[in-house]
Amino acid sequence: MIDTWIVERRASTPAGDEPDVRSPKVKASMQITEIYKSLQGESTHAGLPCVFVRLTGCNLRCSWCDTEYSFYGGKKMTPEQVLDEVENLSPSGGSVEITGGEPMLQERELVPLMQRMLDAGYKVLLETSGERPLERVPAGVIKIVDVKCPDSGEGDTFRVENLETLLPHDEVKFVISGRGDYEFARDFTGRHDLAHRVNAVLFSPAFRKDASGARDASNCLLDPQELAEWMLEDNVPARLGLQIHKLIWDPALKGV
Ligand code: SF4
Repeated sequence: MIDTWIVERRASTPAGDEPDVRSPKVKASMQITEIYKSLQGESTHAGLPCVFVRLTGCNLRCSWCDTEYSFYGGKKMTPEQVLDEVENLSPSGGSVEITGGEPMLQERELVPLMQRMLDAGYKVLLETSGERPLERVPAGVIKIVDVKCPDSGEGDTFRVENLETLLPHDEVKFVISGRGDYEFARDFTGRHDLAHRVNAVLFSPAFRKDASGARDASNCLLDPQELAEWMLEDNVPARLGLQIHKLIWDPALKGV
């Protein structure tokens, strides 16, 4: 069970220094919440068909998290079974997003699996908070690093050393709930010259985690129009991102 290993809070285990408490039996398998095919909802890859592999477990607790169901449970699968399922859903290649939870908590199994996916011809996206070290992520993987803003409640968790791992095809995302988050994202983007380091810097209004029904911006914690006006006023080198899957399907639906 995932809750027998790395679901410890970050504060108790400094990045890169956490004890490996996994048993030899667990090492051979991964803990997977779900694998499904949908349209990519975010990033510059939005709108494209994509297979999502959601790994179980997260060491953060963002206030607006919409995937709390991935914190526990799931099922054990070998990397071979995961790859087989991806190939079943998308036999002719295409995009695969590795997400969670925090997928890098299963780095030992995940890194070689992502390399196998690349070798098989898939475009591999990795959605991560950047709280775990990213040095071992294969260079061919497109990292989408979700730097946490203060209102998430996890604002001090990004591992600054991970900036050195960013490649020109990577993306950095900020989920923004209000003016304080916006100013944090704007200043972080400028201070670290993100616009020249990565393919895209994304500013996304946070969505209510209990959103359901309306498939429009009324479920955003911050009105996208307000965010757009702030970005225009400051001429921020970032693009406004909306979670289009929540505008296509009921935002309460899982597996889309
Ligand atoms: S890092 Fe992602 S999965 Fe974990 S609590 Fe934050 S939003 Fe949820």
